[in-house]
Amino acid sequence: MKALGPIPAGFAAIEGELAIDGHKASELVARAGETPLFVYSRRMLEAKFARLRAAMPDRLAIHFALKANPFAPVLEVMSNLVDGFDVASAGEMTMAFKAGVSPQKISFAGPGKRDAELMAAIHHGVTLNLESEGEAERALAIAKREGLTPRLAIRVNPDFDLKGSGMKMGGGAKPFGVDAERVPALARRIIEEGAEWHGLHIFAGSQALSADAIIETQGQTIDLAARLAGEIGAPLPHCNLGGGMGIPYFPGDEPVDVEAVGTALAARLADLPELLRDTHFNIELGRYLVGEAGVYLTRIVDRKVSHGEVFLVTDGGLHHQLAASGNFGTVVRRNYPVAIASRFDAPVEEEASIVGCLCTPMDKLADKAGFPRADVGDLVAIFCAGAYGASASPAMFLGHGPAHEMLV
Ligand SMILES: *Cc1c(COP(=O)(O)O)cnc(C)c1O
Repeated sequence: MKALGPIPAGFAAIEGELAIDGHKASELVARAGETPLFVYSRRMLEAKFARLRAAMPDRLAIHFALKANPFAPVLEVMSNLVDGFDVASAGEMTMAFKAGVSPQKISFAGPGKRDAELMAAIHHGVTLNLESEGEAERALAIAKREGLTPRLAIRVNPDFDLKGSGMKMGGGAKPFGVDAERVPALARRIIEEGAEWHGLHIFAGSQALSADAIIETQGQTIDLAARLAGEIGAPLPHCNLGGGMGIPYFPGDEPVDVEAVGTALAARLADLPELLRDTHFNIELGRYLVGEAGVYLTRIVDRKVSHGEVFLVTDGGLHHQLAASGNFGTVVRRNYPVAIASRFDAPVEEEASIVGCLCTPMDKLADKAGFPRADVGDLVAIFCAGAYGASASPAMFLGHGPAHEMLV
């Protein structure tokens, strides 16, 4: 039997069923009308943020990377918690506006911004995190033509990456950011052109669980920002330290010790060189803030046996939960935290694989794991579904369409 990932804290059984914030899974499905369904818990979003906020130095702003979960009711909750939103397209920028986020609190990163997207950001006064010299020239030209002052930051491609991170975003040749050694010249050009110089964005990686690795990377990031500010020859208004904090998805994963990260960062921020004395620092997080607050509920529509192995076939699948199937940025497939929601407190009785309804062997939600005996009609819960679920899965694949989403 293969192990399952750890179920996040805060989920209980009511009358034997998984309950999310006191609501039984079957009641939530009845409210939505059908499965599959994503449920996000407001209380869990708030609790996760509160713990992080308490652990981090007061001086540090916390931003939400909207791409992790752009569901409008979730954005509204997040907009009351975080200090800013990071978007990666004009579409996401519009979603942030609709959630009531003011343009001054938004920064826009991402390679391949179109002219229309640069123009929209400049018109609204959204900070552009420039990904290249070419993008900088296009932004400056658009601003000049429109008679506007753009707010410009440079995304730096650092010479290091976040150790142990699931997704490496820095170190070596990358499509993201400007190589560190070319940043000072570009920053001086932006300042000379009369743009509003916002500062640096340094994102070295994501989905790390080791506090030591995150602390080391934050230290390197601040060192790099100090070196670049010195070479630019001007104080740094803002410094986005990136993110990096992950959540436990797989067997053996342990949560990040955010208190240790916060303590180390506070010490670092208390001892800054002159050019960073008044810098506004922030981190930007996606999955850490929202991932564990979401559950994907799907119903078993068939139970079958093939060559002695039990398969529980559901009405959901990788078209909503690509990451749980192991096809979103993982090298070796491992099991997410998965449970039979309608028999949440029942003991393990058999080994089974839970699969989706798509005609592809990739559509596996749990591989040869231990479950209570489940049958047609039972509900399955995939945990850690609050980030990169609905927004990062191919909902159009095979024509099933998107899942329902609900905030409780
Ligand atoms: C995706 C992304 C994030 C968020 O990453 P998580 O792993 O969800 O925390 C933060 N910053 C940038 C620039 C990103 O592209």
